[in-house]
Amino acid sequence: MLKIKKKKFISFDSTIELSSKEIKITKNDIHDLKQIKSNLIARGSGLSYSLLSASEEAISIKLKQKEITLNINKKSILISSDYCLGEATKYLMERGYCLHVLPGHPNVTIGGAIACDIHGKSQNKYGNFGNYVKSIKLYHPDKGYLACSKDSNCELFELTIGGYGMTGIIVEAEVEVKKLNSFDIKTTKQQINNLSELKSIYKSKLDNYEGVYSWHDLNDIKKFGKGFIFYEKFNNKLGKNIRIKNTSISDKKPHKIWKLFAYIYGKFQNTFFYYYNYLTLYREQSINFYYSNFSNKKQIYFNVLRSSGFIEKQMIVPIDKWEKYCKFLETNIKNLYCFLCVCKFSYTKKKFLRFSGQGISIALNFKKTQKSVEFCKKLDKFCENNEILLCIYKDSQIQSSAIKKIFGKEYIQFCKLLHKYDKSRLFISNMSKKFNL
Ligand SMILES: Cc1cc2nc3c(=O)[nH]c(=O)nc-3n(C[C@H](O)[C@H](O)[C@H](O)COP(=O)(O)OP(=O)(O)OC[C@H]3O[C@@H](n4cnc5c(N)ncnc54)[C@H](O)[C@@H]3O)c2cc1C
Repeated sequence: MLKIKKKKFISFDSTIELSSKEIKITKNDIHDLKQIKSNLIARGSGLSYSLLSASEEAISIKLKQKEITLNINKKSILISSDYCLGEATKYLMERGYCLHVLPGHPNVTIGGAIACDIHGKSQNKYGNFGNYVKSIKLYHPDKGYLACSKDSNCELFELTIGGYGMTGIIVEAEVEVKKLNSFDIKTTKQQINNLSELKSIYKSKLDNYEGVYSWHDLNDIKKFGKGFIFYEKFNNKLGKNIRIKNTSISDKKPHKIWKLFAYIYGKFQNTFFYYYNYLTLYREQSINFYYSNFSNKKQIYFNVLRSSGFIEKQMIVPIDKWEKYCKFLETNIKNLYCFLCVCKFSYTKKKFLRFSGQGISIALNFKKTQKSVEFCKKLDKFCENNEILLCIYKDSQIQSSAIKKIFGKEYIQFCKLLHKYDKSRLFISNMSKKFNL
């Protein structure tokens, strides 16, 4: 008998809250979902910045399985969808392997990583998570278990990668892994004067690096966009695997008192980060592979920003639009405090509603205020007119009209195939209702 529990859901950016229901299931009782006369939506750890795994009109389904097996001959893992990427990384590192693509939070699940087709610092070399998914075992109460891969049931496979849970519950997946060259990542950096300089970096050979990303200060009017680029490579020697302590960033809504520090903290961390990197420009840093991806250091940052709700805008800007985009930011961002500006480099193909395409991938963080909301509306219009892709799962602010215009034919095709596959559209979320998926 399935236990349905009431639950309050909150998006990671703290801007959307709703009350609905949740069921925790194992593989053994999954068929009981057939008896439920309600819409459903699969839920991972609920770490999407926008509310993707809950809806007032659907019951959230959380799988509890936690299984992983490494197949050394096939260089792949068979992993249940509730397994977190941090845990999987620890498991793999102990055996000398790792995943190609990792996000910034260790508790992101395999299910969430596939359904959002996530990317990481290694976007320049490996692209998105979906590139390494070999096959998926899916469950849909009306259809039972469905297996899909690039070779069989390919349409369903493509719809499920970056499909935001619309095709059913991912139960397990086979994911490609790679042998670790070293347990340590070494980082070198380079100073840059403004955002525009990234254009020539994009065109250089970045696939020599394990990861490349840049950080910029958009609050210094005189030197708008000054910052640093970080280049990551594995150390030459294998080194030692240390005992890894769990890292996490709390997903509980922080106390309101953190709001009081927002502006001071924002200024402090941007100034500190700039001068720290300026003073250590020629120092090569070496850090364990796990900690280079899953740092604990972001906790205060998210306490401050989540206490009053924040906005993340993440976009892929085609390289021929980059200069125009930089000018737009410089002109329109005045009087707004930008807490974070980080860029990565994407060379993947555009497909359906995924955050994939060719160009510079830029992420911006603001506190949610009337001014920042107005700026974001203007930015969305700019993106609509310049073929700039917006990230759906990081952004609670985007309007349906912008999504339809930005994704264009890919949006139409995604909806068409989704309705062909599941006429009753059993799986819905707060996000899918908003975008009429
Ligand atoms: C601090 C922080 C850093 C982050 N860094 C990055 C980053 O570097 N790169 C990046 O791309 N993202 C990043 N993210 C975003 C995050 O990776 C994605 O939003 C991810 O989808 C969250 O996974 P989750 O397990 O919490 O899934 P949820 O947020 O619960 O769900 C996300 C989507 O996946 C679907 N889903 C979840 N499980 C299943 C399943 N079993 N079957 C079918 N569908 C399922 C849900 O229905 C929903 O549509 C970050 C998030 C945080 C909080």
